[in-house]
Amino acid sequence: MDFNASDFRDINPGERILMGPGPSDVPQRVLQAMSAPCIGHLDPYFLTVMDETQQLLRFLFQTDNALTIPVSGTGSAGMETCLVNLVEPGDEIMICVNGVFGTRMCDIVNRIGGKLIRVDGEWGRAIDPEAVRKAVKEGGPKVLAVVHAETSTGVCNPIEELAGIAREAGALFLVDMVTSLGGMEVTLDKTGIDAAYSGTQKCISCPPGLSPISFSPAAMEKLRKRNTPVVSWYLDMTMVSSYWGAERKYHHTAPINMIYGLREALRIIAEEGLEERFARHRLNHHALVAGVEAMGLSMLVPEAERLPMLNAIRIPDGADDLQVRKALLNGFGLEIGGGLGDLAGKIWRVGLMGHASNRKNVFLFLSALETALKAGGVKVEPGALEAASAVYEGL
Ligand SMILES: *Cc1c(COP(=O)(O)O)cnc(C)c1O
Repeated sequence: MDFNASDFRDINPGERILMGPGPSDVPQRVLQAMSAPCIGHLDPYFLTVMDETQQLLRFLFQTDNALTIPVSGTGSAGMETCLVNLVEPGDEIMICVNGVFGTRMCDIVNRIGGKLIRVDGEWGRAIDPEAVRKAVKEGGPKVLAVVHAETSTGVCNPIEELAGIAREAGALFLVDMVTSLGGMEVTLDKTGIDAAYSGTQKCISCPPGLSPISFSPAAMEKLRKRNTPVVSWYLDMTMVSSYWGAERKYHHTAPINMIYGLREALRIIAEEGLEERFARHRLNHHALVAGVEAMGLSMLVPEAERLPMLNAIRIPDGADDLQVRKALLNGFGLEIGGGLGDLAGKIWRVGLMGHASNRKNVFLFLSALETALKAGGVKVEPGALEAASAVYEGL
């Protein structure tokens, strides 16, 4: 050992305000719940916690699906869970791609050996349902998949229309709800969504580490009728569902304290109410956009296709992407995200997710951005805070 244990200090990252694409700020109540004693994964107390967590997740997903559980792993584990369980080698699956996360789904399908049909759309614009309808007629996929809230671009994809297309084609409809769940309305049963996955660290305001998923009866039927075993042992829902179901059969040790945290985060959501929570996300988003536009900056995504929890702002001419982000972090403890792929250096991604979607953060971001831009010699129009105020006052 070439170090002394005392060389390592206590963990103390200092205060941050997380306004990037995730993780988002975690309320103290959630952190506190996570510090409760770790107990056994078959302890009767923990089994009750599991049942309550499932009940709360069904409420958030708006579903009666029996298989509604948090998968052990981050959002990408949920993505992989849905794909490995519902796609067998050679199965045709159509994926709508208009950002990083649609691309990630394709990567997984290729590894499974599924027959991938891609419908590509412009990054920064919503998927065109007509293009999907046409492709479905030509392709006949068994599964149609789309990202609801494309966190890489700030775009909301039209899942209602796509659900109708999947239904007509007799395909299962799979939706990535990593960023949308907890920040905007999702109604699994009413919309006709067969499989959905999410993540805890975006609008649910819990640390990263779990991925809530839900499978409809039709998805469960597909799972039962598989000809081949699920290629992932860890994410095989035919086995994991026995632990979460009546049998309580050990598969892998549940991340006990993470599930405490998720339960608390979901309890906070239920206390606030879904309608109230979604309205809060919309209001803070509108205020932020009003402020940004008053400064003379513009948004990447057309108004009708924007997400309420992820704002993609075009980086103005003359502004230095990295320098501005560094100024926000060092000067204000404020974290925002940069662009990915082709949008790197072209946009900032500003999250207003869950607990972090509040008026204080909107004003802090607008003032901090204005300060950082001016310091970098970029001309900024006055009146950002007044424009944001006007939204809150309903003017
Ligand atoms: C964050 C995100 C993911 C991946 O989740 P991880 O928790 O990073 O694994 C997948 N899809 C979307 C839309 C996301 O925003």
